[in-house]
Amino acid sequence: MPTSDRRVALVTGASRGIGKSIALRLARDGRHVVLASRSAPPLNDLKSQIESSGGSASVLAVDVADAPAWGKAVESVADQFGRLDILVNNAGITKDGLVLRMSDEDWNQVIQTNLTSAFVAIRAAARAMMKGRFGRIVNIGSTSGVVGNAGQANYAAAKAGLIGLTKTIARELGSKGVTCNLVAPGFIETDMTANLPQPIKDGVLQLMAVKRLGQADDIAAAVAYVSSDEAGFLTGQVLCVDGGMTMC
Ligand code: NDP
Repeated sequence: MPTSDRRVALVTGASRGIGKSIALRLARDGRHVVLASRSAPPLNDLKSQIESSGGSASVLAVDVADAPAWGKAVESVADQFGRLDILVNNAGITKDGLVLRMSDEDWNQVIQTNLTSAFVAIRAAARAMMKGRFGRIVNIGSTSGVVGNAGQANYAAAKAGLIGLTKTIARELGSKGVTCNLVAPGFIETDMTANLPQPIKDGVLQLMAVKRLGQADDIAAAVAYVSSDEAGFLTGQVLCVDGGMTMC
């Protein structure tokens, strides 16, 4: 399929972990995937991997926490391709600590990277989506944003904020063919969780109905459906993909 006929998907945090799996899956499903995160080399490697399997991708090295630059970058993607069909706000960080010891800096950095960046991207993408009368916005939240998590006041607040953002955007843009949903992973084995102590991982495993830790591909499969053409009647939803850990 020529690039101009493919749906264009912008995936943030595509350099590794969940974002990388989402990018690979959307490329396999025939999307042109714009791979975004801060550092170009891993994105170039991923682009080569996608192209060698017959897919189509391009690279966008950008810091989503730099709101003005990030907003312009999203607009430039829509301008370059003449369309922007799918936006996956996946980039995220943790700066964990109990609230009594949490610095303003750690609070602000997590809110800026995990929540404000999604608002900035949606605002920048909305015009192109409305013009095309098609859009699939997928925010990657967390079960921490639904049920809370000790030590993650900043992270849980950002992820809970994404739920309100998701539902509001769903209401604002639904009549224009644009849906907005949130996929909330539970515990997924990526760099983000790699350094957690084994007793914590064992404890989490006990809570899982399916008795295994999640993999990035588990989240990619959910995003593939939510961002598909056939999911046009699904909007404003929070989909917890957590092996039955919270059943939220
Ligand atoms: P990783 O730490 O493995 O990857 C994070 C990604 O985000 C990287 O690609 C990183 O790229 C990118 N990123 C971070 N900060 C920025 C920034 N300022 N600008 C651009 N890109 C940035 O995390 P996961 O794959 O585990 O997590 C992905 C999403 O899923 C996050 O939103 C996370 O909160 C959420 N999630 C993860 C869970 C888990 O158990 N793993 C559970 C629940 C939710 P680079 O550093 O190159 O910029």
